Amino acid sequence: MNKKSIRDIEAEGKRVLVRVDFNVPLNKTGKVSDDTRIRAALPTIRHLVEKGARVILASHLGRPKGTFDDRYSLKPVAHRLQDLLGQNVTLVEETVGDLPRKAISQMQDGEIVMLENVRFYPEEEKNDDRFARSLADLAEIFVNDAFGAAHRAHASTEGVARVIPGVAGFLMEKEIEFLGKALYNPDHPFVAIIGGAKVSDKIGVIGNLLGKVDTLIIGGGMANTFLRAKGLDLGKSLLEGDKVDLARELMEKATDAGVKILLPVDLVISRAADPEAERKVVPVDGVPEDWMALDIGPESSRIFGQAVREAKTVIWNGPMGVFEMEPFAQGTFSIARSLAESGAITIVGGGDSAAAVEKAGVAGRITHISTGGGASLEFLEGKKLPGLAVLQDK
Ligand code: ADP
Ligand code: MG
Repeated sequence: MNKKSIRDIEAEGKRVLVRVDFNVPLNKTGKVSDDTRIRAALPTIRHLVEKGARVILASHLGRPKGTFDDRYSLKPVAHRLQDLLGQNVTLVEETVGDLPRKAISQMQDGEIVMLENVRFYPEEEKNDDRFARSLADLAEIFVNDAFGAAHRAHASTEGVARVIPGVAGFLMEKEIEFLGKALYNPDHPFVAIIGGAKVSDKIGVIGNLLGKVDTLIIGGGMANTFLRAKGLDLGKSLLEGDKVDLARELMEKATDAGVKILLPVDLVISRAADPEAERKVVPVDGVPEDWMALDIGPESSRIFGQAVREAKTVIWNGPMGVFEMEPFAQGTFSIARSLAESGAITIVGGGDSAAAVEKAGVAGRITHISTGGGASLEFLEGKKLPGLAVLQDK
């Protein structure tokens, strides 16, 4: 990575503002129900504490619409972090101004405070210059470890680093290294698997990957639009009629670029998106009018799996079917297992894909599961992430 990281700074005795992505799910009683994102930031926090920095944490949580709202308080997050670290984490009930300034002035080296939700202020998402300056006022150095928010140019992800020097945390560095290696310096054969509901969500990703991969596998709901472009009837399946031409163009581009495209050859179809509804496996040209495709079939899984096993680099974004329902999860789980069994560098991006890999029980055997849904997509599209671009060059 060509950006400075926390390895490159002198942190002892310094006030270091660390933007983390603690946008975690809370359960009905307001407790953290999945602390993956908190754990993902621990290496950075521990490193700074060990170096004797005064660690000031900032994050967003949910969408509180720019006003104080107790349901989106970072209180439960501060508690969980405290448990994980075995160290006191003091939550300051405001994000900028006198309250945090006073709390920070009383900090000792190696101590941690957490500022309240940055999205309690409408200025955050507007990347308001004065708000960014108020944040920057609290610290001497900025560390961005919120990869999941790096595609947003907000005050706490971008603005603040135009006022004080910004460097990457370990999580940010790891994400960029894995995603960047795959995108810009992959070992071949390089296979990308793109799925999910809609073509329109992933056009940018497909377009950018076409210049890089050897094989592009398309599954999930979006495969229907490509199959339609080949003249097939998909019954009641999810299909984007206005994207059929685009799908055809992408396939032509792939041919010109010498990229092999693999589409499903068989499908699990059902009369309804309902686990109780009647279902069967058919070849792609055998979808009756009243039926819909909800997963790839076993022969498709076998062909896709074979390509994955022969690959040296695999990127996967988007499930192969409606994996949330058990009868339509087999294609997705089968691909997850193929990735786990492959000797390739395997990278999974996208929130639902990460959840699917977890559900398939193979998360530990994937080289890198990105913590950032939107951010990893934008990175794979070849876009600049504002929260990364603003950090200091090496
Ligand atoms: P990610 O979060 O990994 O980027 P997406 O959000 O793009 O993935 O897509 C995930 C969604 O796509 C899932 O909710 C899944 O149910 C849906 N999906 C996959 N295949 C189909 C299909 N054949 N028909 C309808 N929805 C589908
Ligand atoms: Mg999703």
